[in-house]
Amino acid sequence: MTATSEEIMQPQQWHNLVESKVARHLNTNLETGLTSDEVTKRRERFGSNELKGKAGTSPILRFLLQFNQPLLYILLIAGAIKALIGQWVNAWVIWGVTLINAIIGFIQESKAESAIAALASSVQTNATILRNGQKVQVPSADLVPGDLVLLASGDKVPADLRLVRAKNLQVNESALTGESVAIEKNTQPLDADAPLAERTNMAYAGSFVTFGTARGIVVAIGEATETGRISQLIEQGTSLKTPLTRKFDKFSRTLLYIILGIAALTFAVGLGYGNLWAAMFEAAVAFAVSAIPEGLPAVVTVTLAIGVSRMARRHAIVRKLPAVETLGGATVICSDKTGTLTENQMTVQAIHSGGKNYTVTGGGYVPEGEILFDEQPVDLQNSPVLEECLKAGLLCNDSHLETKDGQWQVVGDPTEGGLIVVANKVGMTSSNLEEEMPRLDIIPFESEFQYMATLHEGGSRENSSRVRTIYVKGSVESILKRCQQMLDAEGNLARINAETVHQEVDAMANQGLRVLAFAKKSASAAQDSLDHADIEKDLVFLGLQGMIDPPRTEAIAAVEACQNAGIQVKMITGDHAITARAIAERMGFNKNGEVLAFTGAELAQMDKSELATAIEDGAVFARVAPEQKLRIVEALQSKGEVVAMTGDGVNDAPALKQADIGIAMGGAGTEVAKEASDMILTDDNFASIEAAVEEGRTVYRNLLKAIAFILPVNGGESMTILISVLLARELPILSLQVLWLNMVNSIAMTVPLAFEPKSERVMQKSPRSPREPLLSKSLVKRILVISIFNWILIFGVFEWIRQTTGNIDLSRTMAIQALVAGRIFYLLSISQLGIALINQLRGVRQTVSDASAIGIGIACTIVLQIIFSQWNLMNNLFSTAPLNLNQWLICFLVGLPMVVVANLVNRFDPID
Ligand code: ADP
Ligand code: MG
Repeated sequence: MTATSEEIMQPQQWHNLVESKVARHLNTNLETGLTSDEVTKRRERFGSNELKGKAGTSPILRFLLQFNQPLLYILLIAGAIKALIGQWVNAWVIWGVTLINAIIGFIQESKAESAIAALASSVQTNATILRNGQKVQVPSADLVPGDLVLLASGDKVPADLRLVRAKNLQVNESALTGESVAIEKNTQPLDADAPLAERTNMAYAGSFVTFGTARGIVVAIGEATETGRISQLIEQGTSLKTPLTRKFDKFSRTLLYIILGIAALTFAVGLGYGNLWAAMFEAAVAFAVSAIPEGLPAVVTVTLAIGVSRMARRHAIVRKLPAVETLGGATVICSDKTGTLTENQMTVQAIHSGGKNYTVTGGGYVPEGEILFDEQPVDLQNSPVLEECLKAGLLCNDSHLETKDGQWQVVGDPTEGGLIVVANKVGMTSSNLEEEMPRLDIIPFESEFQYMATLHEGGSRENSSRVRTIYVKGSVESILKRCQQMLDAEGNLARINAETVHQEVDAMANQGLRVLAFAKKSASAAQDSLDHADIEKDLVFLGLQGMIDPPRTEAIAAVEACQNAGIQVKMITGDHAITARAIAERMGFNKNGEVLAFTGAELAQMDKSELATAIEDGAVFARVAPEQKLRIVEALQSKGEVVAMTGDGVNDAPALKQADIGIAMGGAGTEVAKEASDMILTDDNFASIEAAVEEGRTVYRNLLKAIAFILPVNGGESMTILISVLLARELPILSLQVLWLNMVNSIAMTVPLAFEPKSERVMQKSPRSPREPLLSKSLVKRILVISIFNWILIFGVFEWIRQTTGNIDLSRTMAIQALVAGRIFYLLSISQLGIALINQLRGVRQTVSDASAIGIGIACTIVLQIIFSQWNLMNNLFSTAPLNLNQWLICFLVGLPMVVVANLVNRFDPID
């Protein structure tokens, strides 16, 4: 029977039907899933499993919001008043410039927003499903109704599912129902009128599996899912607000009041001198406009957006914009060991079983090498316990090996891959064994329990009534406490000597080996499912396997870079303390003295203040339960640290949320962890965290540079106007000219600062203090000094030219060109290019990776300034006058001393 599309599409009371009926309705097979042909047909019929989502704020509104800056109100009102008093050209130029400014801001903002949104969504969610009877991973978007989805803890439910098999399944449905406690699920059919929140045999798209495993049939995808129906209510936009931009907003609001106050004062003082009110209005407007850093918001947005794309290029995808700036201030990075600091390339090197020690040759996942005893290859026939230990590793295993382009690879968990390889080296393969002892049930590995167990058909030789076997593997602690007996060299049951086993473990761990323990237990024929209670006790210890997981070379360099940058690196792992410490020492954690290691159990015993000290001083935290990560973050934060924390498991979400920067693994991470994170590493590599910190620091420094660059011009201009009014002199610069300088000229000159390459010294300084204000004392000093120089330039050149030529327009134009000349020198002096040039002169070699942005910015500036004074349309609009070559030269020469001033300032207060 084939279901028609109408039948499948019909909203069904899926929870009311028994599993077989659901399968029949959706024309799918409960064991093998859909066939590829069927999937293709259904994809055409139903489309892809995606939510279109509601668009964010409309473009028109976003454009209008560009004007919603207090600083722009002044301009609009000034334009209106100019229009009222009949100065129409003036009014139009003001409005025109404001409009252009808004358009540029709008374009930049849209670009930044869509870039960030695209990055965040480029991190694809996958689903594990059964198709053609095979377990495969596909992008969640490719699911069709009838697909058979396999769920495990940490997964995001990819579509609405009717569960057909569930084992200890718990699902968090808070996204859908608001209920934050996970709900237990099963497969029992329910009443037709059961409300959504009580449909315990359904798993809905968008919820998370927090525990257990399950299998479910896709009954609805995309917009047809329950989440799809309510998603119209969910806003999809990306926010460009960060703590820093909020600080800017507050700063500009305060500035506004000050400016309005002084402008009013200017107006009143001028009138007091008996000036015409129209002239004084011009002065007040010129002052207000001159004091406002109009170009700043645009630069901030561009700088943050560039930071985001640079981080993406270095494998760090920013999900939440504030992370860009927080990263630059990170003082502690807490990182996972396995896979992040290390390669996650597990090779078994040592085995201890039946009281004997074996060594293994060969490397990587190539199944070539030997198991040696006393330097002689072993004969499995004579080593029954070794065989049993390897068998446990093969059977209690959910991974397999594959060759891809001639390379051996693990599909699944690398730890398990290592176990397969070592067994393959002596000719044991999973396929043979699985036929001999088929698997009946499994308890999958979870960090929380530190073990995994499987139940198999086939029994022990000793006891024929026990015809089923449970194999268990896991951490030494979790296994040993469940064993009273072990197999001795001949394969006979003997009392276990925990002391000796621990000595063997320590010996392996001291070499940095990751140690796994193996055990088994016989079960009766009646047992066909497995529970934690079944393996609480009476296991028989089979042995240990120790595997090497080499540190990532680039991570070693990154750890050192962090240490030089005053950032503490802490290793947090579920692995054994001795192993973790050995790896930490190998990676140079001990640069600043001995590596202090604590175990989760030790931490659990401490009171609050002991804990805070231990966590501040310790560098390695081993056998840490995921819940303890949250306590570690909180303890560090209580000491004033800015904490970056990695995580990949289901239980890592609270710690990731609490950390200042939560970092999830793109490869090994669960969906739960990704959803809770601020940033995702596409290569799971510690070096990428260090790279992101580097970029974060560069972003912050470039923002400071932009501030240090823009504000002195505002300072110089407003000082000029104020002093001229107070001295009752002709204004050296008119409001429209100020507008030109602050908008057109400023954008051409400051946006390149957002593209500034990173400094060679970026990772040689300590992290900035989280309490450091945006405008630090040294920054304010710098702004004052340069402002005064700018004032001297404008005021001096204007007065000089006016007294020598008597031509007011020419004097103003030359004053402006001189200011811009000085500005170019100042820009160079704070750019990487200029800093490198000066260092070359001093004999310090320094390379600059990319100075093109500064070059383009300066070239644009020069062209714009030539148009500004040489084109007669501009002369009419902005009351400028054309200059001759001599006059250009003069402007250039009077601007030149800026080089000296700027370098003096740089010497005392480097901004690099
Ligand atoms: P980490 O990834 O930080 O090393 P985990 O929580 O993954 O820590 O692992 C903790 C311990 O659990 C390991 O040291 C190992 O002994 C054991 N273990 C890890 N993976 C598995 C697995 N697939 N099956 C059984 N035990 C495992
Ligand atoms: Mg792990």
